[in-house]
Amino acid sequence: MSIYYKSTRGGQSDMSCSQAIVKGLADDGGLFVPSDIPKIDLPFEKLAKMKYTELAFYIIQKFFPEIDNLKECIESAYDEKFDSKDKVELVERCGVSFLELYHGPTAAFKDMALSLLPYLLTSSAKKSSIDKDIVILAATSGDTGKAALAGFAGVEGTKIVVFFPNDGVSAIQKMQMVTQSESNTCVIGIDGNFDDAQTGVKNIFADNELKEKLSENGFMLSSANSINIGRLVPQIVYYVYSYVKLLSQGKVKDGEKVNFVVPTGNFGNILAGYYAMNMGIPVNKLICASNENNVLFDFISTGVYDRKRELVKTNSPSMDILVSSNLERLLYHLSGGNSGEVKKFMDKLSSEGSYSVGQDIKNKLSLFYGGFTSEDQTLETIKYAYENCSYLMDTHTAVAYKVYEDYKKSTGDDTYTVIASTASPFKFTKSVSTAIGMDADEDEFQLMYELSKESSVKVPYGLDGIEKKEIVHKTTCGKQSMENVLSDFLGVK
Ligand SMILES: *Cc1c(COP(=O)(O)O)cnc(C)c1O
Repeated sequence: MSIYYKSTRGGQSDMSCSQAIVKGLADDGGLFVPSDIPKIDLPFEKLAKMKYTELAFYIIQKFFPEIDNLKECIESAYDEKFDSKDKVELVERCGVSFLELYHGPTAAFKDMALSLLPYLLTSSAKKSSIDKDIVILAATSGDTGKAALAGFAGVEGTKIVVFFPNDGVSAIQKMQMVTQSESNTCVIGIDGNFDDAQTGVKNIFADNELKEKLSENGFMLSSANSINIGRLVPQIVYYVYSYVKLLSQGKVKDGEKVNFVVPTGNFGNILAGYYAMNMGIPVNKLICASNENNVLFDFISTGVYDRKRELVKTNSPSMDILVSSNLERLLYHLSGGNSGEVKKFMDKLSSEGSYSVGQDIKNKLSLFYGGFTSEDQTLETIKYAYENCSYLMDTHTAVAYKVYEDYKKSTGDDTYTVIASTASPFKFTKSVSTAIGMDADEDEFQLMYELSKESSVKVPYGLDGIEKKEIVHKTTCGKQSMENVLSDFLGVK
């Protein structure tokens, strides 16, 4: 039986994987989900002998059988851009294994999916007989923009345009973006905050006249947002990879369950863990870790999702989010594919700002455990792990580790546990240096090297020497002129 994709809200079904990847979002506003979650049909010991790219091919082709150059896509995505031979590292410290997902070009876990997405997208476009250049538009508060730039840079048949708030990203993040040199990239600082950037991008997507004009000139707009199924599926691979690795390291027995702890924002990463479990990876708990924006903690504890609250700016900014888009996919699966019910929840969320699930879904949510940390606890955890386990972690990973410690204390559960480590500590140099007691007054670039000296951890190659790189993108614009800047870049009058 072959796999196909349908909308979580029921308005679309029978889409091929290529159509789902190209469209990104379903026409009814829902997210694409697979008709069935395929099962792992090889013994774990066999999977354990595979290289990361081989395993990626084995898993991803089950979801995307139509991508006929998938092997090449994977080889191009996970090449020497990653500074780890295995692409990810599994490091045992403090009695748990940290699954380091930040060895890609931009030193954050978004590289795991955004390195592959451009290839999936261009291949899918060909399959759907689209002969236009794909123009990716993104608004970013930091991590996504750079990972998308690095992924799409130099990929034939694509262009990428990233808008960031001029004063809303760190010095390191800004430098990472404005030094991207390939000619199919365009990076623009806007006078405004992240919401302004995001609204501007949404307005462009909604402007049919502009889209028509772009189309006449051979361009098609698309997004690299984490709701694209092409971003979700590549993330399943590292859950399978870490399980079979633990098996071959003798840390768990075949079939023994493990816990995964995931620092969560848009719910994409942890949902990939849920998919891995449904493919056959033995899981005890999926532990969902939040910062002070603890919407998901409340939801998992009470079954009520309520976004009516102020967004707090925290030291783990990639998780500062109030609407976790990918949760919609979980609701779909937990409701047994009841798209009518999912649509009701989502309609309520947009009209009233909250919804409440029934007892049946609430019971099924017990697979998850939710927790959150305060700003101080996050920093204290970095210090604790550094001093007691000689492990330097970033703020997001610290949120996860602290929530796990709380979980263990309150439940006594001693199941072997894997913590998803989502960013290099050097991406958040200022917070990390402060946490371990360094003088963090220096400029952030200098501080990076100080932190490296202090911790004896190498600065990731994507950040090393970044302060000396040539600044290529100097354009800034007002929030009203984003369309003009886009048209100029594409040479469309
Ligand atoms: C994006 C991001 C997250 C959150 O991942 P989601 O898939 O959105 O839940 C966590 N940590 C870091 C460093 C990130 O960049």
